[in-house]
Amino acid sequence: MKKQRPFWLEQALAAQEQCPVIPLRGETSADVCIVGGGYTGLWTAIQIKQQSPATHVVVVEADICGAGASGRNGGCILSWATKYMTLRKLFGESEAQRLVIVSEQAIEHIGAFVRRHQIDCDFRHDGVLYTAMASAHIGSTDSVIAALEARGLNSYETLPAQDVATRSGSVSNIAGVFSPRGASVQPGKLVRGMRRVALEMGVKIYEQTPMHRIDPEVQPVVHTAAGKVIAKKVVIALNAWMPEQFPEFSRTIVVVSSDMVVTQARPDLIQQTGLNNGVAVLDSRTFVYYYHSTSDGRIMLGKGGNTFAYGARMLPVFDQPSPYRKQLGKAVCDFFPSFAGLNIAASWNGPSDRATTGLPFFGNLRGHPSIFYGLGYSGNGVGPTYMGGQILSSLVLGQDNAWTRSGLVKGPRGYFPPEPLRYLGSLLVRGAIRRKERAEMLGRKPSKFDRSLSRLADAAGKADHG
Ligand SMILES: Cc1cc2nc3c(=O)[nH]c(=O)nc-3n(C[C@H](O)[C@H](O)[C@H](O)COP(=O)(O)OP(=O)(O)OC[C@H]3O[C@@H](n4cnc5c(N)ncnc54)[C@H](O)[C@@H]3O)c2cc1C
Repeated sequence: MKKQRPFWLEQALAAQEQCPVIPLRGETSADVCIVGGGYTGLWTAIQIKQQSPATHVVVVEADICGAGASGRNGGCILSWATKYMTLRKLFGESEAQRLVIVSEQAIEHIGAFVRRHQIDCDFRHDGVLYTAMASAHIGSTDSVIAALEARGLNSYETLPAQDVATRSGSVSNIAGVFSPRGASVQPGKLVRGMRRVALEMGVKIYEQTPMHRIDPEVQPVVHTAAGKVIAKKVVIALNAWMPEQFPEFSRTIVVVSSDMVVTQARPDLIQQTGLNNGVAVLDSRTFVYYYHSTSDGRIMLGKGGNTFAYGARMLPVFDQPSPYRKQLGKAVCDFFPSFAGLNIAASWNGPSDRATTGLPFFGNLRGHPSIFYGLGYSGNGVGPTYMGGQILSSLVLGQDNAWTRSGLVKGPRGYFPPEPLRYLGSLLVRGAIRRKERAEMLGRKPSKFDRSLSRLADAAGKADHG
């Protein structure tokens, strides 16, 4: 029976020409074997080939490229500007400034890449709008904007309330700040387009080829279901699947769902809302609502921080329609009353890898000099995985540059408590955040208990989506 895929990936697969899935059978060798065919794995493969075309690169993917978070995310492409304070605390002033700048450039690079390779993925560089839906949330980005401004890095402007409502398409947003340095994309079409380009560049891609284990000999061997790859270097790009393969990562991330719905196409109604470009809109909650329109006239809306996975294990629900479909459908109607009564075309969800800092981390697996990894994008990965590719390709190619010297490549920056504490704690904090935000939406003061617990999530770096 044909597997039901999340909406974006279904749409992407339907739009592309027949492309056979080739599993690995038997033994092969490579200069570089990349495990995982999402954005991180594919950007790494592509950037290695761009710099060193003769390098023989093999990708092994358990399912098909894009089956993970990359083919099902919200498609909001964001920089790290709003993470400047965290970046400065972790990596110091000059590295923080560099990372803000390169994270903004990554968005431009992705745009240039899709244009150069004619990837038809609805990439729209129309900016990002962070909004407040409750008076308690107004001004939540003021301090980071002031800090960016003081260093000449600020691209945000505070908009009059009327403009916020117009540009976000909804009067539910009562205040907001806009930056042109943001974009949106059809994520499934992006990842499938990257797969096509990687193949054109000579990357060998084996799909339906799960890695079972890796032998970390001098020359590492990646063992798959029906074969093996003997490689000089290996890159592990497994995202939320990392703890399943390598239990030592199980306390470095919390695996938590982000859930999404997309409406039927009604271009006429989209025009009326004013949300007629690709601006990515995010509210100011800890577990944010995020949305954008599509160029065929739909609204895609998602919310992070829903289903937590005990022990960071994968759950069957991550591959099913969203259990939060009803709540998300109601949120669509609340934001866009003119969409009330319309069908929700699809709902889905997926696993996000939330790190303690809200930022990804990279390093050498078990200290092995030829095996590299990266994960922990914390719900903001569509843009930053481009930087993940820059980091991992630099490490693979043995370069001495700003990426290989960056604090980002020094492994995890923190650990969550062991189970069952972590799971119970996650539920406790999630409950407190939900109560606090409900109270704020009603204009009431949240309890001290809920405020204190909510701060734990904020201290761990506010998730952008996950
Ligand atoms: C529902 C959802 C919404 C999101 N929305 C946004 C958003 O709007 N904006 C944003 O910036 N970020 C968003 N994110 C985060 C973003 O999608 C991710 O950070 C990004 O896609 C990570 O890419 P990746 O390549 O590291 O991981 P993935 O795309 O998950 O790739 C990992 C791959 O590894 C494969 N794999 C697993 N096990 C094995 C194995 N044993 N052997 C071989 N392969 C294996 C998987 O099949 C998968 O394809 C969202 C995430 C989710 C889940």
